[in-house]
Amino acid sequence: MRDARDLVVELTAGGAAVHSGGTRYTVRDTPAGERCTCQWFARHGLSRGPCKHILAVRLAG
Ligand SMILES: [Zn+2]
Repeated sequence: MRDARDLVVELTAGGAAVHSGGTRYTVRDTPAGERCTCQWFARHGLSRGPCKHILAVRLAG
């Protein structure tokens, strides 16, 4: 598993885009917490802690 620091974070209006290899994920900050478009987040949400993309955005922010 790649470390969150290997991801490239691009801050955008209303959230951030996280590039991992050739894939782009969108992270948004909502009143209920961050949301990510990756499969891991779709399956687990924040119940098992944030995914590495959300972590990368937190590190970048
Ligand atoms: Zn994610």
